[in-house]
Amino acid sequence: MRVRVFLMQEGGIHRGQAIQMTLCHDHSVSPGAPARGARGRSAPAGAGASVTAPASAYNQAVESAEAQTAIERIILAAPRGYCAGVDRAVQTVERALELYGAPVYVRKEIVHNKNVVADLRERGAVFVDEVDEVPEGAVTVFSAHGIAPAVRERSQARSLVTIDATCPLVTKVHVEARKFAEAGYTVILVGHDGHEEVEGTMGEAPGRIVLVQDERDVDQLSVPDESRVAFVTQTTLSVDETTAIVARLRERFPEIKGPRREDICYATTNRQAAVKKIASRCDLVLIIGSRNSSNSARLVEVARACGTESYLIDSLRELDPGWLEGKRTVGISSGASAPEHLVEELLCHFRALGVGQVEEVEATSEDVRFMLPKEMRLALQSGAA
Ligand code: SF4
Repeated sequence: MRVRVFLMQEGGIHRGQAIQMTLCHDHSVSPGAPARGARGRSAPAGAGASVTAPASAYNQAVESAEAQTAIERIILAAPRGYCAGVDRAVQTVERALELYGAPVYVRKEIVHNKNVVADLRERGAVFVDEVDEVPEGAVTVFSAHGIAPAVRERSQARSLVTIDATCPLVTKVHVEARKFAEAGYTVILVGHDGHEEVEGTMGEAPGRIVLVQDERDVDQLSVPDESRVAFVTQTTLSVDETTAIVARLRERFPEIKGPRREDICYATTNRQAAVKKIASRCDLVLIIGSRNSSNSARLVEVARACGTESYLIDSLRELDPGWLEGKRTVGISSGASAPEHLVEELLCHFRALGVGQVEEVEATSEDVRFMLPKEMRLALQSGAA
């Protein structure tokens, strides 16, 4: 049985200019390799269910796509992919595995990306929902999305060796929420119900923080003292929607206090700006990211708000060739938790379909880096094991 894989052999991407590329080649591989992109098997718009299909179906789909594709150009959005907080969190688990050996327990998904989690699981990370599932005294990493203080207390009660990989920009929101609550304010958190970051932030001051998800929630709010109200936001929201919600909050509570600096993080803001920049030039925008990744889902919304068809896919294997019919220009970006090799894999696929022009459009440059968590740095210094 023949399955096609596409390998990048040379070249690169030049920012802001179109370049001709012939970088990918077909190779025969053994049976059992995952099938990719079989038409009609892909998840629906915005969905992220894993898809597999027989290799023959995949080959037929590719051949059919090759025959039908009219795509001339790929536009890559920049910045895209890993942010500083995700890079730090993934590195934390990798370093913990090197230092302590497997298993290293991780509370929740370290970042919201199926591919990253699967890779770390293979290397010995054990993902759990709650610290109660971790054996007493074991090494445990807290995810980038943050934890409520109650989780820290339960971990101490189990004598866990904890490493907190909460993104510093999430910690900043926790600190703001706690300060406002301690000063006697009702804290309004703008965010998505059920998201781990929201659960962690709300846990900073249970009973003093209320969640609003949209402008309607703002209209229905009832607070004990309208002159003592403050707001904070989740870090990965839509910039445009949040601006509207905060404006509504200010209308309802003219004395409302807010953070000194924007809570929506630099990575979320920049990735949305980049998608906005390319979407109007594209017939289709593909976003690589997992379904539970808030910032990835927002990128799809941004592209659609620009009037462009857009889908969220975990990887190439979820690409539906039907989406490509009649399209000439395809935009590609990826959420803050999606590794770049998944973008490269998708690019190789398009090159194999005969797409010759790849252009990268940069909305802004990024050079943010975060140090590893303090516990990790100390452990590395002392060579603890
Ligand atoms: S998306 Fe923003 S808040 Fe979340 S981990 Fe990345 S930098 Fe931190």
